[in-house]
Amino acid sequence: MALIYGCGALWGGEWRAPDGAREGESEMSDVVRGIQQVMTSRATIEGAGVHLRRAFGPDHTPLFDPFLMLDDFRSDKPEEYREGFPWHPHRGIETITYMLQGEVEHADSLGNKGVIGPGDVQWMTAGSGIIHQEMPRGDAQGRMGGLQLWANLPAAEKMRDPRYQGFRAEQIPEVTLEGGVRVRVIAGEVGGQQGPVQGIAIAPEYLDVRVPAGARFAHPTGRGRTVFAYVLEGSGRLGPLPDGAIEPMAWDHTLVLFGDGDRVLAAAGDEALRFLLISGEPLREPIAWYGPVVMNTEEELRTAFDEYRRGTFVKQRTG
Ligand code: MN
Repeated sequence: MALIYGCGALWGGEWRAPDGAREGESEMSDVVRGIQQVMTSRATIEGAGVHLRRAFGPDHTPLFDPFLMLDDFRSDKPEEYREGFPWHPHRGIETITYMLQGEVEHADSLGNKGVIGPGDVQWMTAGSGIIHQEMPRGDAQGRMGGLQLWANLPAAEKMRDPRYQGFRAEQIPEVTLEGGVRVRVIAGEVGGQQGPVQGIAIAPEYLDVRVPAGARFAHPTGRGRTVFAYVLEGSGRLGPLPDGAIEPMAWDHTLVLFGDGDRVLAAAGDEALRFLLISGEPLREPIAWYGPVVMNTEEELRTAFDEYRRGTFVKQRTG
């Protein structure tokens, strides 16, 4: 990985090993990930009437395996979000809330309570089950915004104890790279900086990347992982890059799923580009999904909803 990161010959042309590289490393493969699919997030309504945009979801399994869904709930109209997501259960998944502006008030069946604010992340492993509510609150100007990603849990961890990893904006490292590219590292590693979210089965990377106008970004991904980008601001290109001028192919709300390879490339043209870059190890397990519960079999789904009706859904009552 270190050989690729920060290397001067990142953008096509021939691969050069840095000085001092051992024999053999210069022959390592170095495939730029192509584009498998480009989509645009679509307007939908969730929770108690929250207007949001879904980048991908139940219609797309198993394309994004190990990820299940990505919702973008940016809005500057309080009537579009204030009803929020009142009490509901989750089992068998992780929900990852990353805030851009405004706040989400969170409370759950374990007695946890808190506010997720701008730049904060909450990585919630529902495991065997929690019942929680997530209530958006706008900032002083009424603006609200964030992303909620759902990641699947491997069969062996679907009934594990729930766990939270919550980090404030200032606990998330920001790395500055060549060309003034800035990366907030929520999970994974960039330029020797580790993100604070650790110990997740799918070995996720979750990066918030800002590429200034005219700059380029390269990131090693390893083979076999599922990698996608979701654009938040500006425009640019993701995937293989031309030598010359950058003609934009991705804007706010564009979702790019990469094909397999060793690294991803991105570039900004005349304006800056900001996107989330997310990756994980695919699980390749059967998916039985109903609403907020995702298991491996229909029988496990029936059990979950029976238990919910009987009041035995939550297995662990202290956090
Ligand atoms: Mn929820």
